[in-house]
Amino acid sequence: MSVERRPERFRDPLVGLYSLAEQDIDVVCPRCSARAVISAQPHDGLTVLSWPRRLVCPTCTHSAWWESKGNYSSWGGPIDPFFRLPLWLRASCRNGRTLWAFNEAHLTLLEDFVTARLRERTPDGYHQTLVERLPAWLKSAKNRDEVRRVISRMRAA
Ligand SMILES: [Zn+2]
Repeated sequence: MSVERRPERFRDPLVGLYSLAEQDIDVVCPRCSARAVISAQPHDGLTVLSWPRRLVCPTCTHSAWWESKGNYSSWGGPIDPFFRLPLWLRASCRNGRTLWAFNEAHLTLLEDFVTARLRERTPDGYHQTLVERLPAWLKSAKNRDEVRRVISRMRAA
């Protein structure tokens, strides 16, 4: 039995994409197409964005390292910022847009935002939060049902 998540209010947790990427990112394994995981390897003296990242596929045991030296991370699309692999959690909406999330926590944040009856205003001065930067179509009430449907489908997959 599943309990529907339907928070009354949504308060912006004031996290950005960068901090979500400190957690594991689920991607499609480039070798076997199963779910692989990219984890941050915290490193003293480096900023979060420059931490080395480790890709591991539990299905075919493929693994790889990403190092920041000579590499740029790429943000804001349905790929992971480091290896640029397709995200595991991504799906097309009927309007042709792609809904994507780095991981379960990211998906839950989107779901809570989309389903909340009331969205509290983000405090002034926070313009770089994930929620502030969501595209307009995702914030639009007319797409709410479709986005919720797509998120449940992603969870079920
Ligand atoms: Zn694999």
